[in-house]
Amino acid sequence: MSALTVLAAELGGERVGVRCVGGRIEAIGPEVGAAPGDETLDAAGAHLVPPLINGHTHAAMTLFRGSGGDLPLMPWLEERIWPVEAKLTGEDVYWGTRLACAEMIRTGTTRFWDMYWHPEATARAVADAGIRATIGAPLFDVGRSAEEMRSSALASLELLGEAGPLVSPALAPHSIYMVSENSLRWIGELSAERQVPIQIHLSETQKEVEDCIAAHGVRPAFYLDRLGVLNERAVLAHGVWLDPEELALIAERGATVVTNPVANMKLAVGGVFSHPAARAAGVQVGLGTDGAGSNDSLNLLADLKTFALIQKHAAADPTAIEAAEAWAVATGARAPLLGAGAPLSVGAPADFLLLTADAPELGVGDLTADLVYAASGAVVDTTVVAGRTLMRGGELPGLGETVARTAERARGLGL
Ligand SMILES: [Zn+2]
Repeated sequence: MSALTVLAAELGGERVGVRCVGGRIEAIGPEVGAAPGDETLDAAGAHLVPPLINGHTHAAMTLFRGSGGDLPLMPWLEERIWPVEAKLTGEDVYWGTRLACAEMIRTGTTRFWDMYWHPEATARAVADAGIRATIGAPLFDVGRSAEEMRSSALASLELLGEAGPLVSPALAPHSIYMVSENSLRWIGELSAERQVPIQIHLSETQKEVEDCIAAHGVRPAFYLDRLGVLNERAVLAHGVWLDPEELALIAERGATVVTNPVANMKLAVGGVFSHPAARAAGVQVGLGTDGAGSNDSLNLLADLKTFALIQKHAAADPTAIEAAEAWAVATGARAPLLGAGAPLSVGAPADFLLLTADAPELGVGDLTADLVYAASGAVVDTTVVAGRTLMRGGELPGLGETVARTAERARGLGL
């Protein structure tokens, strides 16, 4: 079995070795060295840290990067996004996702949660790039039949279940306004039967909340709960307008909220998901970028600063969130469902980063505070996933081709 041993990495003030066998960490500590035949990597004092988890994105939307036109949400969707999405092919999605994976590997994300068209093409891109993803086909039955939606859901679970060890399937109902009550209930039952997670956009805009109350008499989280969709398998993207009763219910049901502060600010949704209120209620929280169409970056390490700052700003309180807590959210430590496990420990998947030892942003002061407030993804030197070195010395093999092929696909779509 192939083994990778990283030598002389900086961890908590000491130099450690990490030996990875069969995609897992077999040993980690000051005494750990390489065995004969191991591939070795001299970290030369680079900081060893767990990788980041992007809890909500639409990876292939890198195709739409830079063409948002600074429009409001609905004209942006109706004029720029939906007409082009109707023409997308699997090949477009493959290259858009490869570009997204390249950006994530370069900026320290090794696992992402995705909802997009042609999920089989996303899965192929993820496997080829070597990172991890939980993928769901966008499900909706507004504008098409519930039957069509159900067969698409079942087919996608089958395809994604066979996509290899780096990919796991999910059900991805788009939102409570794009999926009917009966279909949401059906998705909840299917999720329980197959034990697969659900990703859904929830409480992104005030209008969504008002419409939900008008149509169903309750706020969005209570509506989902009534339909059997709010449970420990659910990942709720955004949650900007959740009120205290909804946060208490989400905590009780064990669901996860993924906040996407940069996309929310770019689309000017007008509110801020309150991390202090969610934490106090006991809600599990992750961080996401949302798609490159509405961010436009997938650099989660940069968004981490925005996340921390907007929490402080909205609360008018600089102690509203501390650097260590923000870092825990970005690395998935506050939301077990997102898949971080116990990183950098014996038996854990061999997924980690080495950060440039002499990066000016990391040279002085507390490393975690520097990562949150000073660094961006540019400090990532090496990215390892499942014991495979995907990037070393900031060099990602094949990047030039990925950028060129994706740009060509985007031009072909008229973007
Ligand atoms: Zn989204």
